[in-house]
Amino acid sequence: MQEATPEKSADRLTAIRARMTAAAKLARRPSEDIHLIAVSKTRSAEDIAPLILQGQMLFGENRVQEAAQKWPVLKEQHSGIQLHLIGQLQSNKAEEAVALFDMIHSVDRLSLISALGKAMQKLQRAVPCFIQVNIGAEAQKGGCSVAELPDLLKAAQESDIPVAGLMCIPPADVEAAPFFALLAELSARHGLPQLSMGMSDDFEMAIMLGATHIRVGTALFGARTSAD
Ligand SMILES: *Cc1c(COP(=O)(O)O)cnc(C)c1O
Repeated sequence: MQEATPEKSADRLTAIRARMTAAAKLARRPSEDIHLIAVSKTRSAEDIAPLILQGQMLFGENRVQEAAQKWPVLKEQHSGIQLHLIGQLQSNKAEEAVALFDMIHSVDRLSLISALGKAMQKLQRAVPCFIQVNIGAEAQKGGCSVAELPDLLKAAQESDIPVAGLMCIPPADVEAAPFFALLAELSARHGLPQLSMGMSDDFEMAIMLGATHIRVGTALFGARTSAD
């Protein structure tokens, strides 16, 4: 398995930024509309620091606990860090998530919307959210069904949760483009401006199909040693 060395991740960041710019140009989209989330789950502060020094300010974590241990110190050392939660969220961690994260990508059920609404009200902090759609209708995967989406959007609005847009993780090992296109179609139908889609292997395609937030881990840091 490949080791992520700091020097290398900084070089990879430069290369990914160039690929993002090229994809945006092909799609005739302004590259400022496309945000790179460096997915830093399982990575140490030493892995992360070189990217911050190179101007990467937006990071994604999939676990509240891990982020709570890792990021407060890094945030103190570097101003301007934005932290996004991209992994599944339990309702009992909603308050901690609202306090820690600047955006939440994994809102997928009514009970979580209710918990987040209460947490935002209590902490007086509005955290923009993406509604995660289980776009391939996979049994094991997080995300609401396409049919549930209108109810979740209504509930979020009633709970004063700012909804930025939609997020998906398409099925593995098949062409992602049709799923990205479907998510883009759903977001347009509901008048939602942002789309969180595209990972290491398919972010250029996601940009072509309208992604505003791409979530890239492996292509930046190298292979992860653990499966998640
Ligand atoms: C880990 C993860 C990513 C990044 O995946 P890579 O293939 O390493 O780029 C993106 N989105 C979510 C939700 C993830 O959990």
